[in-house]
Amino acid sequence: MSRILIAEDEPRIAAFVEKGLSANGFAVTVVGDGPSAYDYAMTGGFDLMVLDIGLPGMDGFAVLRKLRAERCPMPVIVLTARDSVQDTVAGLEGGADDYMPKPFRFEELLARVRLRLATDRTAEPTVLTHGGLQLDLRTRRARVGGRTVDLSAREFAMTETFLRHPGQVLSREQLLSHVWGYDFDPGSNVVDVYVRYLRRKLGAERIVTVRGMGYRLDG
Ligand code: CA
Repeated sequence: MSRILIAEDEPRIAAFVEKGLSANGFAVTVVGDGPSAYDYAMTGGFDLMVLDIGLPGMDGFAVLRKLRAERCPMPVIVLTARDSVQDTVAGLEGGADDYMPKPFRFEELLARVRLRLATDRTAEPTVLTHGGLQLDLRTRRARVGGRTVDLSAREFAMTETFLRHPGQVLSREQLLSHVWGYDFDPGSNVVDVYVRYLRRKLGAERIVTVRGMGYRLDG
């Protein structure tokens, strides 16, 4: 099931989009301000974001700029007032994949969402593999030695980070910034805690401690 993040501060529009997308089989999460939109998007737990430009805290342009600066590849469809389409297109500078002038019919938005997800799907592998470990990015489940393993959101994000850098040593700071985003406490031992969780679920020998440097995923 595709997961969609909606960043929209107008409850009426947010509810309209949420209801429609849920009815069409999408898993939907709604946030109502710019900083939350950025934080949620950076978790890596969404396949697409519908992003309003006029958001409190940080506007949609700023959210998009920050996401692209962090190389977040998630497709983004921007919602904008019909009379400011020109400004919006100029302001996006290629950061958004599509935009939707308000007011819109739900079917128009749905068609764009489906199109973006289909394009995205052909471009990206849906299963990451290393050694005996497989991670399905759609179902967010791991498979180890023929066994299916359910992962929490953080465990999934950490496993994905390891699988995108197989055999490479990742420092605690790298893992913190990939899995917990920019807003982390560098003194935190949360990485070690989650490495313990993953060893328990995926096999103790799979994640190797490299003393003084960090952790490495072995086959
Ligand atoms: Ca708004």
